[in-house]
Amino acid sequence: MESMPAAGYDLHTHSTFSDGTTSPAEIAREAARIGLAGFALTDHDTIDGWGEAREAAAAAGVDFVPGIEITTKHRGLSRHLLGYGIRSEAGELFETLAEIRESRLARAREMVRRLSGEYAISWDAVVGSNDVRTVGRPHIADALVAAGYAVDRSAAFAEMLSPASPYYLDTYAVDTANAIRLVRDAGGFPVIAHPAASRQRRPLPVDDLAELAEAGLGGVELDHPENRADWLPPLAAHAVSLGLEVTGASDYHGDGKPNRLGECTSPPEVVARIRADVALPA
Ligand code: AMP
Ligand code: ZN
Ligand code: FE
Ligand code: FE
Repeated sequence: MESMPAAGYDLHTHSTFSDGTTSPAEIAREAARIGLAGFALTDHDTIDGWGEAREAAAAAGVDFVPGIEITTKHRGLSRHLLGYGIRSEAGELFETLAEIRESRLARAREMVRRLSGEYAISWDAVVGSNDVRTVGRPHIADALVAAGYAVDRSAAFAEMLSPASPYYLDTYAVDTANAIRLVRDAGGFPVIAHPAASRQRRPLPVDDLAELAEAGLGGVELDHPENRADWLPPLAAHAVSLGLEVTGASDYHGDGKPNRLGECTSPPEVVARIRADVALPA
């Protein structure tokens, strides 16, 4: 029997404003339907989905936590940083986010140019949605799937879009410690995303966790479907000794990934402490 998700918060979801396949309003309604207490919208490098999510969450009777997932890099490796409750559109964080989105656009265009030598896909097929603010490999994967070259996003990621493929390009990523400071300067609460994800070459080293805590990190996403169980114990022990919040979240991408909304959640007490830390109104 499938168990019902606990009445917690899913603190990591993506909508059509980045590389999810469902709108912010659909995520809000689905969160209410499955009995979540609340959810955070954490699109890659944009907060443009917040308005729609907040409105739909209020209508559906589910709590909304404003969030973002920032493309960062630490010691040469890609590390994603979640930020909750960031305040103002002004300031350095938002300038940095604009730079990241622009770099992603140039990188995606060049990857499509490289791929088009081999596969009949066009740029128009990649940026189909009106909402999309942040393009990524998932959008290129969709174009490859639509043209019949891959069965789904995962297949395209495993083949043409893998870092080992000749079509792959890196994108600009801000230094993780710097991004933590930018999130704090914007009044937000920084949490390191999926630090033990199996896709990463290695888990976040505990020394790096301590360094990032020193820079202002507030939490660590230990309960995530892609975290490797055998990589977690040292991170869990250090999270406690460093006084970091431990969060859980699904990294829902609609139909774009197997992750199910609410499959990992954070208890309401954790969300209440995050809210209190950044004085975010309930
Ligand atoms: P990018 O940031 O453009 O390099 O693309 C990485 C994004 O693609 C991340 O948000 C992942 O969640 C997503 N992603 C990674 N692997 C897959 C997969 N197998 N299927 C669908 N989405 C994926
Ligand atoms: Zn994504
Ligand atoms: Fe991520
Ligand atoms: Fe994510």
